[in-house]
Amino acid sequence: MNLKLFSVFMAAFAVQVMIFAQEQTVPRSIWIEETPSIPLVWNGIPAVEIVVPEQSSRVTEFASKELQSVLSESLGRKIDVIKAPRKDKTSIILGDNEFSRKAGIDVNTLPRDGFIIRSGGNRIFIAGRDNPQTDIEWARNQLSIWANNFERGTLNGVYDFLERFCGVRFYFPGELGTIIPKHLELTIPQMNIFERPDYTVRLYTWYKGDWFDKSPEWGKDGIRAKTLNLYRTRHETQYLPCNHGLLAHNYHGRFAKTHPEYFSIIDGKRSNFDRHPYLCFNSGVVEEIYQDAKAFLTGKSMASRNAVNEYGKPEWSPSACQKGYFNIMPQDGFRMCECPLCKKVKDKRPVPGVPDKEISDHIWGLTAKIAQRLKEEGVDGCITQMAYWPYNRVPDFPLPDNIRVMVGVRGPWSQVPDDSQIDGWTKKLERKVWLWTYAGKFGSRQLPGIPSSTPRAVGRYYPAHADRIFGAYMESDTDRYLYHYLNYYVFGKVMWNNKTDVDALLSEHYQLMYGKAASAMKRIFEQIENDWLTKLQGKFIENDQGVFYQYPSEYEMWNKIYSPTKLKSMETDYDKAGQLAETELQKKRVRLMKQEFLGGLLKQSRDYHGNIRQAEEWVHIVPEQGTSSAYLHKVPDGAATQGHLAMSCGNNELAITVFGVPHRELEVLIGNHKFKFTKQKLAIPLSILGKVPHPFDVVRRENGEITERWNFFLDSKTLEPSAFGRLVIGHPGDGNIIVNGDFIGKDAKPWFGPLYAQENFGAYFDNEVFLTGGQSMRLESKGKYSTSMWQNLPQLKSNTRYRITFYVKLENVVPYGAGGVISTCYDQVNRWYPAGPLTGTMPWTKQCNEIVTGPETNKKYPSYFNVSMRNASGKAWVDNVRIYEVEAKGK
Ligand SMILES: [Zn+2]
Repeated sequence: MNLKLFSVFMAAFAVQVMIFAQEQTVPRSIWIEETPSIPLVWNGIPAVEIVVPEQSSRVTEFASKELQSVLSESLGRKIDVIKAPRKDKTSIILGDNEFSRKAGIDVNTLPRDGFIIRSGGNRIFIAGRDNPQTDIEWARNQLSIWANNFERGTLNGVYDFLERFCGVRFYFPGELGTIIPKHLELTIPQMNIFERPDYTVRLYTWYKGDWFDKSPEWGKDGIRAKTLNLYRTRHETQYLPCNHGLLAHNYHGRFAKTHPEYFSIIDGKRSNFDRHPYLCFNSGVVEEIYQDAKAFLTGKSMASRNAVNEYGKPEWSPSACQKGYFNIMPQDGFRMCECPLCKKVKDKRPVPGVPDKEISDHIWGLTAKIAQRLKEEGVDGCITQMAYWPYNRVPDFPLPDNIRVMVGVRGPWSQVPDDSQIDGWTKKLERKVWLWTYAGKFGSRQLPGIPSSTPRAVGRYYPAHADRIFGAYMESDTDRYLYHYLNYYVFGKVMWNNKTDVDALLSEHYQLMYGKAASAMKRIFEQIENDWLTKLQGKFIENDQGVFYQYPSEYEMWNKIYSPTKLKSMETDYDKAGQLAETELQKKRVRLMKQEFLGGLLKQSRDYHGNIRQAEEWVHIVPEQGTSSAYLHKVPDGAATQGHLAMSCGNNELAITVFGVPHRELEVLIGNHKFKFTKQKLAIPLSILGKVPHPFDVVRRENGEITERWNFFLDSKTLEPSAFGRLVIGHPGDGNIIVNGDFIGKDAKPWFGPLYAQENFGAYFDNEVFLTGGQSMRLESKGKYSTSMWQNLPQLKSNTRYRITFYVKLENVVPYGAGGVISTCYDQVNRWYPAGPLTGTMPWTKQCNEIVTGPETNKKYPSYFNVSMRNASGKAWVDNVRIYEVEAKGK
């Protein structure tokens, strides 16, 4: 055997992954002498050097670079890294080597991620287990949990040493997020420290989020900053698998053709050719799952099962299979099979009033069966399963002791405690569980530009369950990385040490980062946390539609929660903090936070209001032949009154007749002209009007105050007078391709919807609540129903930009699931608007969206415009719908 190869083999053997020990069983022990006696720097002259012997691993070397760079800056001179300790200096000796071993340190006895910091005379040893094979400089550039799951105990020790003895703090990478105190004199005490994490599972989502600093040292998308922060927050280095494992074992690729009966019948159809099929657990697939589990847990390859993964390789998926653990969690969005055998399960309904208990028992029955058989056949290792909707109910039957359970709970952002769920499972299993928690901007980055920093909630939540959990995954997606820097920092601290004083930790953070601006910045951050938790993160909903968050509507967001006035005062708060900050670094930090945390809000607010304003142009057309009606609306709520104006053209004048309002109370304002009625009538020479269109305003006053306005209800303070509306006379049209956008006429052709009204839901014409034309379309549902209104758009052209505007008013729209009121313009795909469905109660509010149609518009399928109320109860009115061509912006 080639010797070189052999040594590589031996090295591989030495670090082969030990079976993940879930619970931390070894107590930490910390001894630090009271009086300092080890000099690091004297009179500005460093008395310390870093020792990394020959043949140290690249991970240990990386630890030395981190120590060297921070210590050099702290002590004011470059600290040497040398191969062997010298007598005349304090030596910090890193990693597992001849010196540390001689000092009695055996890293093989340490729990994973643990380390020792121990002094002996003028030597300080910092040692943990470091993976001898990892190329950490390569790993740092990988946006991958797998690339970064390598042991780096010494690096953990270096960070602990710098924090504990030199006052360094790692809030986020770079000078603005790192506190490095300058020391001209520093002598530290003798110590003997053994540290290890309280929680073994310490996983958070770290890939997403734009990194603010685009300089090349941070790599593409800031990846090198993110991985560095992963190391500095002492993230876990081993994954306990539990994430929809049944998808990862590739049953679809393996059996879709040969065994269609393995796959669930969903909506009357076998799902074997779905990309993410569901499995029928009353089929032969259960035997396949068992044989896979047995093969993996007994060290056999996927090839031994004549199988490949979804990438065509005979390798077990790391997300479902880690040494000693095999995950059999079903596919997300679980759907129960409808075959006769599975139907029987569904019909069992063992516990009335406990929803989905029969499905839950079905999945846990399967889990127990596989685990029990593994035991009976003498297979070591565990099955992992997640208590997750709809199989999150604790079963009444026994579960074998080789099952490990991850409990899916709401987590730190929860508005109600999760205790009973966690309690139930720990009592059932008589062992600790681990958690999947949600503290992220869910799914498709909902609420972009809105900060979601919640360090206090994170700091409270995870230690509170210390007696029942051995760790947690914090699903913490965000759109800007800095939104979550404090969440990550606090998570790292409390997961490592459950006794961390979070209030003190945060106070220290504000003090060190901002100096005299600490209180001001603390108030800003606490306000952000409060807004997020109580107003923005949405209501977490779990019902027969699934689990999800319901977010506030855009209207609420930009008019109520972050109104222009509120944003203005927030801007002032940052500026005041900036004035309080003393050093240039502190001032820079305040500016960075303002840019990151307020910048997104300002932009979103501008986009929203800009868009609404742009849409505020109001056109009323008086045809050359015939009459049109303008209605009066109460200010400010927009309710229609009985008053209305009939307008017609002829004899070079605009004739206006008023109905339903005493004529003396009505004024017509056109530019600087004011017109009064004689009896019910008024005639305005078209020559006065000049060129069309004309700014035009009809108001009714009571005691001098405007109480009604024609077709208008918006607060006049926010609008320019000329924006109150335009009268267009004899214009052939304004390009609106919607026919009858005001819903005029008994059956308001060509709108569809009311034809299909049912007893509890439907679309109706409403001549009591409307904006224009004397009628609107009302969508109404008395339960969890969907209803819609639409018209076809044969005039919609391909490859053209259109603006779509309409008004909506809501009354108590309550969604079930991700429901609410939403529009779509279908060209060749659905163009949904707004991004999140509208819910709640809302006055008449203009919606404005722009789309560019695709080349297939009106070719294969007819185009249409549609507004629907989906999976919701309540009422919604729609009026004044317009779709018209616009020039592309910037043209
Ligand atoms: Zn079935």
